[in-house]
Amino acid sequence: MSKIIVSGLKPSGELHIGNYLGAIKQLVELQKKDYKRFYFIADYHALTTKYDPKEKREQIFNMAVDALASGIDPKKSIIFLQSDVPAHNNLAWLLGTVTSSGQLNRMIEYKEKVQAGHVPNAGLLNYPILMAADILIYDANFVPVGEDQRQHLELTRDIAETFNGRFGKTFQLPNALHNETSRVMSLSDPTKKMSKTMPNGCLFLSDPPKVVEKKIMSAQTDSQTSISFDPKKRPGVSNLLSIYSSISGKSTEKLVKEFEGKGYAGFKKSLAKEMVAFLKPLQTKRKKLLKDRRGVMKILEAGAKKANPIAEKKLAEVKKRAGLI
Ligand code: AMP
Repeated sequence: MSKIIVSGLKPSGELHIGNYLGAIKQLVELQKKDYKRFYFIADYHALTTKYDPKEKREQIFNMAVDALASGIDPKKSIIFLQSDVPAHNNLAWLLGTVTSSGQLNRMIEYKEKVQAGHVPNAGLLNYPILMAADILIYDANFVPVGEDQRQHLELTRDIAETFNGRFGKTFQLPNALHNETSRVMSLSDPTKKMSKTMPNGCLFLSDPPKVVEKKIMSAQTDSQTSISFDPKKRPGVSNLLSIYSSISGKSTEKLVKEFEGKGYAGFKKSLAKEMVAFLKPLQTKRKKLLKDRRGVMKILEAGAKKANPIAEKKLAEVKKRAGLI
């Protein structure tokens, strides 16, 4: 039987190349392998910090568009909205009964969000329980996770073990599937991660060619003129080399050789050209999908139709174990 992969995409704003290389690209590539894939738009997860409903609705739609435009293929993967599969939430309630408040309070992401000034609502605190349910409801074997979600996956395993210990083996323990792409750094400050919170340093998937060129040409580097890969001593040029390598498939060593003695301007120009060409098919597909809201929603509905019976079956098993039916 094929191994199962589950991954959620949180709709929290426009996607940048860091989101693509750090998360979506891996999901697309996994479609070449023999897995059963559940990819969902994590709309419930996106409500734990203050938001505007109208804006959120667009972000959810845009997340689906970006995922499809990037190559997530509904023929190969089950793609759906988290809120269209109620069993996720029903399971989260049951898992909450075997999770301690101490475990939740120890989550780094929760502490960071509260420290950053977000209201510590129960949703923000309980977020990892819903994430555990998202994963365990499909008996996932693997979950692609970035560094930031590793602690939540560990908690998912702990919750599954506690439940299994109390009620008998019910859940598969999921393993992390690590992404080879390291963090993409900000173009304006390469010592920091590219992040929506600093839009100046982001290269968005929707940026038109002129903007891509401008952003890359003005990306922060250093006062040296040669091209070399040394993320610690030369974060700017190394970040550009990593990005170049990820979109072209050429190794950073090969790129360093290719641009030996050519200076920053030539290197950046070439990267900008490669990036524009790389984004073109994605942007063409994106524009088409943006005009076809009904079509996109239909894809998500069809995905939920496939996910619901699988999730309901697992939920029934869990309820039985827990003494409900
Ligand atoms: P966010 O939009 O920050 O919630 O991130 C969504 C996903 O994109 C997560 O899996 C992150 O690990 C990944 N991601 C976000 N920013 C970056 C970045 N600068 N480099 C690599 N991956 C990133």
